[in-house]
Amino acid sequence: MSVLVFVEHTEGQFKKSAYEVVSYAKAIAKHLHQPLTALAIGNITTEELQRLGRYGASKILHVNHHKLASFINQGYASVIAHTVREEGVEFMVLSNSFSGKDLAPRLAAKLQAGLASNVVALPEIDGDQLTVKTTAFSGKAFAYITLHSPVKVLAVNANTIESKEDPTTTNIVALEPAAIDMADFKAMIKELIQTTDKVALPEAEIVVSGGRGLKGPENWNIIEDLAEALGAAVACSKPVSDAGWRPHSEHVGQTGITISPKLYFAVGISGAIQHLAGVSSSKVIVVINKDPEAPFFKVADYGIVGDAFELVPKLTAAVKAY
Ligand code: FAD
Repeated sequence: MSVLVFVEHTEGQFKKSAYEVVSYAKAIAKHLHQPLTALAIGNITTEELQRLGRYGASKILHVNHHKLASFINQGYASVIAHTVREEGVEFMVLSNSFSGKDLAPRLAAKLQAGLASNVVALPEIDGDQLTVKTTAFSGKAFAYITLHSPVKVLAVNANTIESKEDPTTTNIVALEPAAIDMADFKAMIKELIQTTDKVALPEAEIVVSGGRGLKGPENWNIIEDLAEALGAAVACSKPVSDAGWRPHSEHVGQTGITISPKLYFAVGISGAIQHLAGVSSSKVIVVINKDPEAPFFKVADYGIVGDAFELVPKLTAAVKAY
């Protein structure tokens, strides 16, 4: 009944979601009275690897090979699947990130495993069976998925649980990648260029999002100022990115990114179902809209009816003064 968690990093630094999935997998391992093994791939220092021990991973498998320096789904899936077989893993946990969404189905197919993706809660385990809550139909519904397969793959949404320190003695094991298959490396990332040092949208705990109610890109400073004051990431609705007011990487919704921050501010966004599909699993939703009939108010935890151009700067000043 062994539990393995795959952890992601950027340029050798573990992502926030890496610690979250370690805490998630640790909760499963504790329930089963099993130790937790973590798998990291790429160029990562021993000091950084040891951080995983603070969150409860007692064995850390590290695969470092120049072909695996950047994420490549076929290559990573081969290494992870091989490790799952070698370690006799029953529960395989990874983040439902861009890379995780790519990896999880490939892994499940390689391992003939049951897959639950978009996981938003800890599972219930009953003997050989696991049941877990996931989002379905682009976030419009929740589904409870039961897995009976010998190997179970869980792709966990960001912010599903808070990473929690649970220190344990850690054993780092350097693994040689099992025979590298050149067919796995038909396309490779040559260079990664970081274009911003702001909070990454998929991992952000707080998101400030603007819609067509902002009237134009020249007014986005009020969104950015509030985001900066809150340490939040910036997002937008689809028409905003379609119009070129904001980059497509900020577009949330059915055809954009799905996010689950702790706090989501929707400013001048009507709340169309396609937008809600990407944000409805946010823990708390605050809506600012001048139309009291805007559909977004129906799903808001807090709603403010008023003009964004008056309210948002006041909110920013209040946050700064806090
Ligand atoms: P609008 O609907 O124009 O709403 C603007 C809002 O701003 C209004 O509610 C208005 O009352 C308010 N407002 C105006 N002025 C002010 C002010 N001064 N202060 C405060 N409030 C003000 N949309 C997405 O966002 N994401 C998606 O992924 C997505 N995918 C789609 C996929 C399909 C197949 C289709 C058909 C549509 C999709 N859409 C998506 C579009 C979606 O249906 C809506 O058209 C879109 O979300 C509306 O964007 P909006 O709320 O910014 O603009």
